[in-house]
Amino acid sequence: MSCLFCSIIAGEIPCCKVYEDESVIAFLDIGPVSIGHTLVVPKAHAENLEAGSLADAERLMSAVYSIAPSITKAVGADGYNLGMNHGECAGQDVMHTHLHIMPRTSGVPRSFTKTHPSKEELAATAEKIRNEIAKR
Ligand code: 5GP
Ligand code: ZN
Repeated sequence: MSCLFCSIIAGEIPCCKVYEDESVIAFLDIGPVSIGHTLVVPKAHAENLEAGSLADAERLMSAVYSIAPSITKAVGADGYNLGMNHGECAGQDVMHTHLHIMPRTSGVPRSFTKTHPSKEELAATAEKIRNEIAKR
């Protein structure tokens, strides 16, 4: 079975990684709705949250708890939206559990429209985030 996020986790498809531990990886969304839009992904393949283990769901939220403040700070945002699209009816395109962290800045309208930054722009944002996470 081919799965885009399993291929990214395996290193077969490149990504702008910002965080990794034994059970979770986080990388920038290729079509961010805001600068720093990050996908937090359990490494174990499961189509959705409850198809995976409760332990993986807890580790996913634990990673969000640790890295969301650093992502927010790195991109100069003031807060963030968390989002999970569960099922095609909810807009899930990639059938491997993932949680979106979408940084938000006061005074900037909240958009859910994808943008198309260059590889260089994404790489520069990822570096800022990794540096901020490293300060924790
Ligand atoms: P979903 O709609 O399933 O909740 O979100 C899937 C997300 O994956 C989308 O926001 C989309 O932009 C992102 N995405 C799709 N393909 C790739 C890819 O190859 N690399 C990265 N980093 N993100 C991707
Ligand atoms: Zn997968």
